[in-house]
Amino acid sequence: MQQRETLLIPGPVSVEAEVLDALSRPVRAHYGTDWAQFYHQLTSSLARLFETEADVLLLFGPGTAAIEACLASTLAPGDEIAVVANGLFGERVVDLAAALGLEVHLVTPDEEYSPARREDLEEVLRRHPRVRALGVVHHETSLGLVNPVQQLAEVATGRGLLTIVDAVSSFGGMDLEVDAWGIDLCVGVSNKCLGGPIGVAPVSVSQRAWEAVDDGRPKVAGWYLNLRTWRTFGQMWKSWHPHPTTMPTSVLEGLDTAVKSVLTTGIREHKAKQAAAAARVREGLRALDFEMLVADQHASPVCTAVWARPAMDVEDYLGWLRREHSLRLGGGIGALQGRIFRVGHMGRAADPAITDAYLKATAEYIELTS
Ligand SMILES: *Cc1c(COP(=O)(O)O)cnc(C)c1O
Repeated sequence: MQQRETLLIPGPVSVEAEVLDALSRPVRAHYGTDWAQFYHQLTSSLARLFETEADVLLLFGPGTAAIEACLASTLAPGDEIAVVANGLFGERVVDLAAALGLEVHLVTPDEEYSPARREDLEEVLRRHPRVRALGVVHHETSLGLVNPVQQLAEVATGRGLLTIVDAVSSFGGMDLEVDAWGIDLCVGVSNKCLGGPIGVAPVSVSQRAWEAVDDGRPKVAGWYLNLRTWRTFGQMWKSWHPHPTTMPTSVLEGLDTAVKSVLTTGIREHKAKQAAAAARVREGLRALDFEMLVADQHASPVCTAVWARPAMDVEDYLGWLRREHSLRLGGGIGALQGRIFRVGHMGRAADPAITDAYLKATAEYIELTS
């Protein structure tokens, strides 16, 4: 097989050989009783990972499409939504909401590179009592920062708001208890912490979210990115074609293989492996005099953002790692470009052999350039 660089970016991830094998099987049809059974078994495994009894849909598209579907299917133009905006992906939720005609109120922590706190949300809700929903990114991947979703969802649920969580980069990698935390809509993807292929976004939808879909107010969701359409086909064609359109059957087989592997390993162990890689990388980089962007108590266990050392040329470092070691890291985005780099611990990047090779290469780079 063709050799490719190993991805230590925070998604998509390099996947195990068994996932690649699943992707290379002959193409399967996306309907029939055997397919419907396969599909339902996969969505119930994903429900286990979400820790929910609620419905799980498997939208075919990027995570962003699924977030758009959640917002557009449950909220009507003019509705007010509070959105935690402390990084690029929070801002993406703001843009999605604004594009759908929602009135957005930003929940912004006072300090840079820090999580939104319960008080920040309470303050926004005091000023804007008509807010109907909370949108929050669980793991703000642009910073390697964790927002306290459980606490924020508690505030939201206490006031009857709908809670919509972008768990794209935390699903399968961090504790996330959809039912216990009162999350109404939760979006993940296959190709980050689950170690699956690119292409599908699992979404969990609570009873309260379905009530919002059905509340008779005019939603702007069209047909495909409309949760109602997915529910209709899930019920009407349940036993042979439980989704509205053709599904990427090969991608779903790859995801199924990845999910089975996580469940066989144990979800706790799967998360612990990624967290151990994060701890190892943080410790190894600190030993090389690097400073971390985010304090340990708010830092993500699946992606680490690191300040460049003084006088370090980040582009040169990232290019060198690719050329000399076939390792690919993430850079900084926006104002942080050239000032930080990001190391993912998802998928195969969590293998100890890979983290060690990465740390060794970085030590070599510093030796060469200092
Ligand atoms: C990767 C990522 C996204 C975007 O996912 P796409 O599949 O590219 O749409 C959204 N939110 C977070 C937190 C992410 O890490």
